[in-house]
Amino acid sequence: RRQELESVRGTESITRDGRHIDVYANIGNPDNLSQVLSNDAEGIGLFRSEFLYLGRNTYPTEEEQFEAYKKTAQTMAGKKVIIRTLDIGADKKVDYFNLAPEENPAMGMRAIRICLTRPELFRTQLRALCRASAFGTIAVMFPMIISTDEVRRAKAILQDVQRELDEQGVKYDSHMEVGIMIETPAAAVMSDELAKEVDFFSIGSNDLTQYTLAIDRQQTQLDAFFDAHHPAVLRLIGQTIANGHKEGIWVGICGELGADLALTETFLRMGVDELSVSPPAVLPLREKIRSLDLKK
Ligand code: PEP
Ligand code: MG
Repeated sequence: RRQELESVRGTESITRDGRHIDVYANIGNPDNLSQVLSNDAEGIGLFRSEFLYLGRNTYPTEEEQFEAYKKTAQTMAGKKVIIRTLDIGADKKVDYFNLAPEENPAMGMRAIRICLTRPELFRTQLRALCRASAFGTIAVMFPMIISTDEVRRAKAILQDVQRELDEQGVKYDSHMEVGIMIETPAAAVMSDELAKEVDFFSIGSNDLTQYTLAIDRQQTQLDAFFDAHHPAVLRLIGQTIANGHKEGIWVGICGELGADLALTETFLRMGVDELSVSPPAVLPLREKIRSLDLKK
């Protein structure tokens, strides 16, 4: 089995009939970079930036964040690195954020909601990200979006940060792509409008499934009700891809479903452009893609 997988290392993630898919890896920490490289991922489709905030007692400084993003961008040597802005809240609690206790944290103050409520925190992360973008190919991605208004507000803060860097003569990549995660049913349903605001979509199937089925993703007692292939979720994914393409943007999947080989053909037929999976899932996915013929 290992040998079979080794044979696809260094090859292109392309179907028999010639459709290329970007196969990227998800990471939660720069320590995972060696795994990304050893598994031959073509980029990083989801860098969960929360690790910078977890397991400590104070906010990470701009410098600390900059160093982590810069190291990642340099190690990937020009390959795309999609950094998701802070997704604290819900299952990821950090004491020094002083978030009020909530009955339903998964539906509470988390991710972009925290960033738009505390713009100084958001600005620090965005400054670090933009500065690091001068050292490779970085893209930024906002999580837990539900409306175009949120996207516009987040982009306005990003543009303001970039203006500030211009004034200070600090280098950054002015062509850095800006995308959003589609991980709420609201975002999937509104994806036709949202696509006009961004350069790409990345579908977070973990949360999209949780919110669409109204089943807590951590609640294993509900496994009997949980259908990972529920047609409602698959329809939302299909609609999101189609709506993104109508506006000419690329659409990927970075939730666990992207690594589900039973769905690879379905996703490719829907037109997905990128699949981002855990590093050990990269080569099996490439092997699967190379076995498919979409003309059949
Ligand atoms: C998702 O929700 O599918 C996702 C990729 O983000 P996370 O698992 O970090 O919530
Ligand atoms: Mg999520």
